Amino acid sequence: MFIVFKPKKILIIILILVISILSTLGAYAIVSAKNSKKVRFDYTIAIDAGHGGHDNGCSGDSTHVTEAELNLIVAKKLAKYLQDFGFKVVLTRENSDSLNSPFAKNKKKDDMSKRAEIINDNNCDMVVSIHMNYYPDTTVHGAQSFYAKDNERSMDLAKCVQTQLNNQLQPENLKNSQLGDYYLLNVVDIPTTIVECGFLSNPTEEMLLQDLDYQNKLTYAIFSGIVQYFSFDHEI
Ligand SMILES: [Zn+2]
Repeated sequence: MFIVFKPKKILIIILILVISILSTLGAYAIVSAKNSKKVRFDYTIAIDAGHGGHDNGCSGDSTHVTEAELNLIVAKKLAKYLQDFGFKVVLTRENSDSLNSPFAKNKKKDDMSKRAEIINDNNCDMVVSIHMNYYPDTTVHGAQSFYAKDNERSMDLAKCVQTQLNNQLQPENLKNSQLGDYYLLNVVDIPTTIVECGFLSNPTEEMLLQDLDYQNKLTYAIFSGIVQYFSFDHEI
């Protein structure tokens, strides 16, 4: 059956369509103007590849890939994305070595305080620390961002990163950013997030985290979260 529209009715329908499109665009423009600022690129971002040297972090059960090596791969990729976008980047470690003195009594503590020193000495505006997760229950999987206690900017940053991880990487496994108790979160007074990129205890994720395309996708999601953070109402 055909529905016959009279010319007058067609005109009214077109008018309604035009009005609804214009009002949608108008609303979008208002929201955009309110929420987004031009992203400044002259921020210095510290990318911290967790572990290294004597400390491999966790490792995959079947491939024995170490957290330390995967952290460095993701950290370097993230540094490249940010640099290409115009940000200044400081990597706390650029190779497989840890930062501690070989003579330090407490190597882990010395390593962590050297990282904090690099971040402070370079007047960094933000820290993004990259880690891989491990949990006895091998079904647990997914990337998650953590924030510092009583640090609203850290919480906002972790939320932005988590939003992008959820949207771009794991729409079927939505996670919330969480309060974390990590050394780096607590010793620097700038927006900081720890990104646990996935679980090496989960067999599928152990393989995915070593896959180039997945690493790129994961890194791009973290990068997007950082840009999202700067594009909202955050002045550092
Ligand atoms: Zn770790």
